[in-house]
Amino acid sequence: MRIARFDNNRVGIVQGGGIHDMTGALEQLPAQRYPYPRRDALIANLEIFENATTVRVVPLSRAELLSPVANPGKIMAAPVNYKKHLEEALKDKGIHHGKLVDEIHKAGIFLKATSSVVGPGEGVRLVHTERRNDHEVELAVVIGKEGRNIAADDALDFVAGYCIGLDMTIRGPEDRSFRKSPDSYTVLGPWLVTADEIPDPGALEVKIEVNGVVKQRENTAELILSVPQLIAWASSFYTLYPGDVLLTGTPQGVGPVKPGDVMLATIERIGEMRVAVTQA
Ligand code: MN
Repeated sequence: MRIARFDNNRVGIVQGGGIHDMTGALEQLPAQRYPYPRRDALIANLEIFENATTVRVVPLSRAELLSPVANPGKIMAAPVNYKKHLEEALKDKGIHHGKLVDEIHKAGIFLKATSSVVGPGEGVRLVHTERRNDHEVELAVVIGKEGRNIAADDALDFVAGYCIGLDMTIRGPEDRSFRKSPDSYTVLGPWLVTADEIPDPGALEVKIEVNGVVKQRENTAELILSVPQLIAWASSFYTLYPGDVLLTGTPQGVGPVKPGDVMLATIERIGEMRVAVTQA
């Protein structure tokens, strides 16, 4: 199942070139009162689509795609999780800024502000354009079930699905969570592909083109820490909740974008998303 959020907070299932608008299914979500639970209500209840009614079909070409996760509790992100990107980061002062670049085992998993999340239709709005602003394309894992101290062998049972993630980054000396958290610096889309459609997240080609030129292309088989290992490690530090997002790290080939650029990100078995870059 491919679940899309689009236009004015509508939701539906993507089939062929259209979104089957099933927004009425949201009425089945459990009623909630303050204080709201720390989870994304839709991701925690994806079964509402099973008997949902389609009110119309919206052509994908006419839909403004939003992040498939509306309210992620946290955005976890793996730093330098591809060996060739580690080598590239160590070589390029424009990436490492004199700071030690560590393997993920030493650096740990970092967090991005949830307010940085947008969908592809909203685009990336750059701030501090006098500095280098880089694209990082990544497989994004969306957690579907609450869990803590999850064993790697069981980890994929806790995944609701996958989408493409862009971990946009201002290069510079500050802490990475600060440089990666401006509004719109986490793009999730084009939709959520449920986990049953991707039995092995460790065998997906990840690619991004900027203005038609391929910049990054790698297979998730090259991840230093695999998706199950990342989930196990993250959950040994904090509880994972439905709707939490895990960005799995970017491969080699990161590079700058500027206002006016168009990024086209693709992940095998998920799809592609076109994201415009503008100035905030
Ligand atoms: Mn990244």
